[in-house]
Amino acid sequence: MLSRKQLQRYSRQIMLPQIGEAGQEKLSNARVLMVGLGGLGSPAALYLAAAGVGELHLVDGDKVEISNLQRQVLYKTNHREKDKAQVAAQQLTAANPEIRLHAHCRMADEGWLTDLFSQQSFDLVLDCTDNLDIRHSINRVCRAHKIPVVMASVRGFSGQLVSFDFRTQASPCYACLFPPAVEASDLPEAENCSTVGVIGPALGMMGSAQALEAIKFLVGLPVSSLNRLQLFEAASLEWRALSLAENSTCPVCG
Ligand SMILES: [Zn+2]
Repeated sequence: MLSRKQLQRYSRQIMLPQIGEAGQEKLSNARVLMVGLGGLGSPAALYLAAAGVGELHLVDGDKVEISNLQRQVLYKTNHREKDKAQVAAQQLTAANPEIRLHAHCRMADEGWLTDLFSQQSFDLVLDCTDNLDIRHSINRVCRAHKIPVVMASVRGFSGQLVSFDFRTQASPCYACLFPPAVEASDLPEAENCSTVGVIGPALGMMGSAQALEAIKFLVGLPVSSLNRLQLFEAASLEWRALSLAENSTCPVCG
């Protein structure tokens, strides 16, 4: 049962037939892990907290730098040199004191993720990192623990979004699409926002899209990025979608 306060706070989404009180209860009962609290994680976390996702775990090992503020909208100038996960938890608590927040001030390596998932169940993971090794770790660990994942990335003006539901037997995975070995040799070393640049609102679009897909997953609505690579071009404002199939030569699930 939703409280009076919850009915009031979430009234504008509860009045949507796609959500309603039943959908809001699902959001309130959900536990979500967010890896990366930068340009994607900032808007995604703000929207999920505002929507009343009951428990958010925030993972980031970085501290706030002045060069982050062009796109990482959770942080203010006076947060410089503070732990991102800690500041993010404070900001999100201020936005919505009704939800539970857990800050993990560390990088999400494979061993740590495996331990965490063995201790607690999660309904969904959002991959908001710009690190390919961590993305592949998230892919493997979420697949092993049958946890759905929403992944996004942005380079320059181009965004990508894709989701996998590892609760289903025949789900493809991120490595079907981008096998780790190919990716490593195709890209120059450590290519990310710090080396190639990125336009802030493109991250805002993709992070917001991750929050949308997360809400759909949690409420039980159809997820448009499920097994579909959604590509966004900020220059032309155009979206394209490519359907994915399981890849029998995939090093992770083939
Ligand atoms: Zn695969």
